[in-house]
Amino acid sequence: MNYLSTRGGMAPVGFGDAVLMGLASDGGLLLPEAIPEVRDRLEAWRGLDYASLAFEVMRLFADVPDDDLRRMVDRSYAVFRDPEVAPVKPVGPLWIMELFHGPTLAFKDVALQFLGHLFEYLLEQRGGRLNILGATSGDTGSAAIYGVRGKKDIRIFIMHPRGRVSPVQERQMTSVLDGNVFNLAVEGSFDDCQHILKSIFGDVEFKQRHALGAVNSVNWARVMAQIVYYFYGAFRVMDSTGAGRVRFSVPTGNFGDILAGYLAWKMGLPVDRLVLATNENDILAQFFTRGVYRRGEVHATLSPSMDIQVASNFERYLYYRSGEDPRKVRHLMETFRRTGGISVAADASGRIDPVFAAGRGSRELTLAVIRRYREDYDYLADPHTAVGIGVAEDFCDPEAPMICLATAHPAKFPDAIREATGEEAQHAILDRCLNAETRTERMPADEQAVRAFIADHALEAGSETESE
Ligand SMILES: *Cc1c(COP(=O)(O)O)cnc(C)c1O
Repeated sequence: MNYLSTRGGMAPVGFGDAVLMGLASDGGLLLPEAIPEVRDRLEAWRGLDYASLAFEVMRLFADVPDDDLRRMVDRSYAVFRDPEVAPVKPVGPLWIMELFHGPTLAFKDVALQFLGHLFEYLLEQRGGRLNILGATSGDTGSAAIYGVRGKKDIRIFIMHPRGRVSPVQERQMTSVLDGNVFNLAVEGSFDDCQHILKSIFGDVEFKQRHALGAVNSVNWARVMAQIVYYFYGAFRVMDSTGAGRVRFSVPTGNFGDILAGYLAWKMGLPVDRLVLATNENDILAQFFTRGVYRRGEVHATLSPSMDIQVASNFERYLYYRSGEDPRKVRHLMETFRRTGGISVAADASGRIDPVFAAGRGSRELTLAVIRRYREDYDYLADPHTAVGIGVAEDFCDPEAPMICLATAHPAKFPDAIREATGEEAQHAILDRCLNAETRTERMPADEQAVRAFIADHALEAGSETESE
């Protein structure tokens, strides 16, 4: 399968190039040339375990020999603590699909565990090196670190604002002692970290000299790996209920997770509705309810991994919405850049897109859902998952069971859980990191200092393999 840019300014590239590029060279996002149609395979796939299903779905997109792909998939999902990987549970009026059984207790592990193996494999095939640079305010950094720790020919440098990420999240990152992992504790804010990151990535010469790469949520392989659990969840719930179609509710930030659901629907999975749930940062809910997508201020909420200003994966949706016409995408993105907003018209029945429903979950709703699900159903949802559940309740339909994606373990967000229920949410993995040895590099909020550190510690782009 070849990959194109949503902006049309790039010759098609193969799968390996698409994964290593991350962002397309014309500033657009990469998408497969065609979406495979799988309706005739649904019956055969229905009984597969998670890893076998992941292999079947990904082999449609990934030009990797079957044996190699199967090995990477098996390794990626063998580390999940639940043998089902993404277990689906009936809870009250709906179903909850738990995506947080990976090493860092967040759904990002599902994709980043696989991406780590894939990077290592592609570099082995091509004889290259990769130095990953990222900035995090929480979840993404630790999932990325766990994805590539100990991997050959890869080093990872993750900046976080020193003392300003939650203690649990900081410990999760800094207790990883592998020699290829560098946690840079920057004396500044998350904005300072992002600013340094952007500025370094803007220096093409430096970036190439040190083979710098990113693991951000626009990487195609992350979206691809996430498509799998939509099939998995739909099969489990259709088997249990006899229903012929399902709905999904997805707590959304950068539109990566729900985009995977949209692609699963395009492939032919009987998805009746995708419910897009946001917190107070509701730019996407506004789009799918009113047709207006407008840049706003970021508000800090109880669900910090959904606190976004613009959604980096949304351009991929706009590409399909524009009839796969890159000129229209370029026009929309240019209008957005110039004016800070775009708008689209509703269809005859007043809807922006018939497959999407959307809503916003306030702080009050989030806390109320956590409390109510604990009291009524003995289920403890993390605040992100609670936003998805709260919005989903408005869109339940007896014909199409609702599957809510649970994106983090509640113990990652103990303050919200305490406020809602008075309980202390715990998990043995997190307790272990709180007592573990840690390693960080303290760094002023100064781009030159970060560059110097990278220059000293990065793997050299072309030379022989170093032994650690
Ligand atoms: C990243 C994240 C989200 C949002 O996912 P997107 O793909 O950015 O929409 C939701 N919940 C949790 C816990 C996350 O870490």
